[in-house]
Amino acid sequence: MNYELFVDKLKERGILITTLQLEQFKLYQNLLITENKKFNLTSITDEEEIIEKHFYDSLTILNKLNYQGTLLDIGTGGGFPGIPLKIMLPELKIILSDSTQKKLIFLETVIAKLKLKNITTLLKRAEEIKTKYDFVVSRGVAKFSILNELCLPLVKVGGYFIAYKGSEGLNEYNQGKRGLDILGGQLDFYEELYLNKQENKRINFFIKKINDTPTAYPRLFATIKKSPLE
Ligand code: SAH
Repeated sequence: MNYELFVDKLKERGILITTLQLEQFKLYQNLLITENKKFNLTSITDEEEIIEKHFYDSLTILNKLNYQGTLLDIGTGGGFPGIPLKIMLPELKIILSDSTQKKLIFLETVIAKLKLKNITTLLKRAEEIKTKYDFVVSRGVAKFSILNELCLPLVKVGGYFIAYKGSEGLNEYNQGKRGLDILGGQLDFYEELYLNKQENKRINFFIKKINDTPTAYPRLFATIKKSPLE
């Protein structure tokens, strides 16, 4: 996907992008490519693939909810989906979290170079975070039955946990459904979509937090992994 197509595909989804925002994406793309080796950020290094699989993919949740307040990105890695969301939603307070310091050092550079405001990094494992947010998003971190327990405890009641999933999303969702109930979540809706290429199927799950999570959760990561809520 080149930038022309990126702009068109976003427009199809009702998303308009300014010249400044497009410049920010280009700057970010350059930083990803030049710093990738040093920080081990992504296996995707082709320019057009970065636009499709990182930028466009990250933005597929726009226009689905009214994003206001605070948004936490868990396991953000090279900044996905948090940085693209920040570029497009400058008013939203975004927190980029990861358990690896190296990635966050790179992201501090991105924040400075792109002159992004109202965005911070947080070096913590998800299961150790205590604050609650209006939105918690995550892509590529764990299967649903594990991810539910990392993310849902951190969502305010009335807020949303949004999981970016691939073609196996529905199976994973069904496997983790029991945990969703226990943790106070309820599926509001999901959207199946394709990126530019038909083989790149994605499913975004929008899960509403309807009840407080019992204080027993999240458990220690070793326990979550050993006996996920399935
Ligand atoms: N979200 C990015 C990166 C996915 S790779 C993307 O979609 O491209 C997974 C990332 O999650 C890694 O950077 C890893 O350090 C982080 N991670 C894994 N387990 C985590 C945990 N329990 N808490 C916080 N971060 C975690």
